[in-house]
Amino acid sequence: MTTAPESMAFQAEVGRLLDLMVHSVYSEKEVFLRELISNASDACDKLRYLALTDAALSAEASSFRITVAPDKDARTLTLADNGIGMSRDDLVENLGTIAKSGTAAFVQQLSGDAKKDSSLIGQFGVGFYSAFMVAERVHVVSRKAGESVAHSWESDGRGSFTVAPAEREATGTSITLYLRDGEDEWLEPHRLRQIIKTYSDHIAIPVALIENAEKEPETVNSASALWSRSRSEISEEQYKEFYHHVGHGMDDPWATLHWRAEGTIEYTGLLFIPGAKPFDLFHHERKNSLKLYVRRVYITEGVEELLPGWLRFLRGVVDSEDLPLNLSREMLQNNPVLRQIRNGLTRRVLNELQQKADKDAESYHGFWESFGAVVKEGLYEDFTHKEALLKLARFRSTKDDGWVSLAQYVERMVENQTAIYTIAGDDLEALKRSPQLEGFRAKGVEVLLLTDPVDEFWTSSVQEFDGKPLKSATRAGADLSAIKSVDADAKSDEPEGAIGSLIAAVKLTLGEAVKDVRVSDRLTDSACCLVADEHDMDLHLERLMRQHGQTVPKSPRILELNPRHSMIKRLTQVADRPQGADQVEDYAWLLLDQARIVEGEALPDPVAFAQRMARVMEASADQG
Ligand code: ADP
Repeated sequence: MTTAPESMAFQAEVGRLLDLMVHSVYSEKEVFLRELISNASDACDKLRYLALTDAALSAEASSFRITVAPDKDARTLTLADNGIGMSRDDLVENLGTIAKSGTAAFVQQLSGDAKKDSSLIGQFGVGFYSAFMVAERVHVVSRKAGESVAHSWESDGRGSFTVAPAEREATGTSITLYLRDGEDEWLEPHRLRQIIKTYSDHIAIPVALIENAEKEPETVNSASALWSRSRSEISEEQYKEFYHHVGHGMDDPWATLHWRAEGTIEYTGLLFIPGAKPFDLFHHERKNSLKLYVRRVYITEGVEELLPGWLRFLRGVVDSEDLPLNLSREMLQNNPVLRQIRNGLTRRVLNELQQKADKDAESYHGFWESFGAVVKEGLYEDFTHKEALLKLARFRSTKDDGWVSLAQYVERMVENQTAIYTIAGDDLEALKRSPQLEGFRAKGVEVLLLTDPVDEFWTSSVQEFDGKPLKSATRAGADLSAIKSVDADAKSDEPEGAIGSLIAAVKLTLGEAVKDVRVSDRLTDSACCLVADEHDMDLHLERLMRQHGQTVPKSPRILELNPRHSMIKRLTQVADRPQGADQVEDYAWLLLDQARIVEGEALPDPVAFAQRMARVMEASADQG
């Protein structure tokens, strides 16, 4: 083992984050203390849990305590805990890299403008590294539970850090901040007391202030688990701070649910719905970050059995009275207690959402904007809650710019309309201009615009709402013939030209490339469009799956022609001539390619398209 300090470079993202801290003009610097106390408390929780199953550690796991000690002469502030500690490798890994998902995306947002970037600190939550907002140098000494040696870690936050063997009497971690010029307020006991009270009162481990060697350490926080107190004793501020601690977010919670379930199963839930969309919502695939406690002892977090995947944005704590303390990972699977808790809290959250939606639509729409795409996963994963979820779902639509519920949609359906129509695509604006919607617009029929990838999945498993089937506007089954146009002289009511000869000629030319060629009743302004046959895969879904590298069988589409369009009428005249069918060949392919382009599909043979286009342009130039 080397005794000389070893110097190492920070991972690139950490370098950028530290740069941000060093140059920070963030106005709420005091949060550094909360972050460090939060880490210390987590470290104590982890050791307490380990000691439950490892008797050798039980001697080290007692009288947990976090101390905060200012030293005015040395101008340092030292935080110490007797938690799990870190080995040399842990120090390098935990304080030299950053495992948090969403970090790369966050770092990419940094502009280099100190003012702008500093405001992002609050959104991201930067943990340990926030120490560099107030310190020019940070020195860590840590000894891991079960080990006899300690190590130090030191850095000035400018690109590199050093690690070296060190001395520490007992298990735990001490972090010393060498304060920068002008940061003397972090040496004032009254200021420190105030910050600890504000941010760390809910921490279940005592946080003691050591003013100087002569004075007795003074416990500043309440040191009882917040969720075990009764609701009336907890202020909104305290809930908020607890949310910051468990959620690692700096936004405020949009909703706070705190209840005690009593009966066959007893547990306490303290759950938060975040106010802002976290950076990592879609990163952690199915993982949630709910913390599981058993009788006030921290067990683990992210237990999938505790929370359905479509509620993974929730933050908070569940504390069970019934589970055994020595709960292993295997025991979590198929655990009947966990299953009951999961059902209980899912119902709670659904009720809360419905209440919020009824009470304040605007605020609810803000929630839906952030988390709706995740909640919709429940529509196909969790059939037991399908009805409740359909009531909670909100959609963009062709009728107004806000959010629409299915109940609202059904209420304003037009005469003779029997189905709820949807159209799926990647982009709202492009969707609104889809030719397939022309006929719907002419008849005043509202269409829901679906732009989340998840929409493709739930729409194939949800058959109906309020007895009305859901139908895709880009499918052959969307029959509007029974519905009258809103506008008496609308184009859709114009007498159709008889285009049978054109249809026959186009069908002959295109052969296998299309499933069918038909007269359209959904087009008013465009000449043609593609639709999927009633039982074939939706056009957008097929594209989506291909983009995700899946092999999907190509299902040929139906080409619809608009009998009221003047170009289609002219082409019909050509087709009606003797030998007309031959002359229509180029037109037929161009119609198909044009419909593909509007749909956003790649042309299978762009060269042939360009050649045909050139021939047709040349011919029309000759005539003109
Ligand atoms: P986060 O707390 O969000 O994971 P941090 O940057 O604050 O991120 O800390 C990184 C990691 O360093 C923690 O996850 C933890 O493993 C470790 N760590 C930080 N402080 C301590 C401490 N006082 N005791 C033990 N481990 C710690």
